[in-house]
Amino acid sequence: MSILKKNIFILTGAGISKESGINTFREKDGLWDNYKIEDVCTVEAFKKNPELVNSFYNERKKNLLDPKIKPNAAHFALAEFEKNCKNDFLVVTQNIDNLHEKAGSKKILHMHGSLEKAYCMYCNRKINYDFEITTNYKCKSCNNKGMVRVDIVWFGEQPKYLNQIYNFLEKTEVFISIGTSNNVYPAAGFIDFLDQLNKKILMYEFNLEKTCKSILFDKVFSGPATKTIPKFVEELIEKKS
Ligand code: NAD
Repeated sequence: MSILKKNIFILTGAGISKESGINTFREKDGLWDNYKIEDVCTVEAFKKNPELVNSFYNERKKNLLDPKIKPNAAHFALAEFEKNCKNDFLVVTQNIDNLHEKAGSKKILHMHGSLEKAYCMYCNRKINYDFEITTNYKCKSCNNKGMVRVDIVWFGEQPKYLNQIYNFLEKTEVFISIGTSNNVYPAAGFIDFLDQLNKKILMYEFNLEKTCKSILFDKVFSGPATKTIPKFVEELIEKKS
């Protein structure tokens, strides 16, 4: 049966956005764009130095608003894949950028949050923001100052949409992992979860290099996502039956 008729789960990581000009996570000795991850990705870091954490995410947001940062051929190919899929299709991304949406993906969950949103840690008000978050910012709902933070899941916090994600995994027939190092859990554990279901599930990995989970996949496609994904999707659509 054509893959297009199956339930498809796509997991993406920082690698898919790399060729759009957004750096990945662990390229240079555990640094994310020259910051130490533990200095900017935990609640403790935010409590200790909110200015540093705010400025890190303000910089990421500013970078994303730069017109030069656009979805690439891999993002567009996934949107085309979704359009041609005859069954259920879901993209779960660990990325905090909005490039899948910009490329036209519709069913997408940002399990680590996104740079589109912020929230007040005091009253939980969600904010769609396009300004710089500073410690002087006063929440319009509860009037507390310095409590607004970016709506990104930090280390030690619960990723979002896990119920929806695991419900989808239960019925997944094709699992495709793209540009993730498989170092960050629970996303890195999805492949083990599927492996233990003892069902025939097609599992494909797309990456520049082998990862610690490559052995669990039926097929590993090596190379830049902008080349491997469009080719894969084009061939599926051509073969459509
Ligand atoms: P990671 O940085 O740990 O790994 C990236 C993976 O992508 C590596 O295995 C690398 O070999 C591969 N890769 C790099 N360029 C590629 C390309 N052109 N084509 C195919 N593969 C390529 O990323 P991760 O596993 O997603 O780590 C998770 C954390 O990084 C997430 O929590 C995420 O929020 C955060 N992050 C997100 C962004 C973003 O939103 N774009 C950027 C950096 C980090």
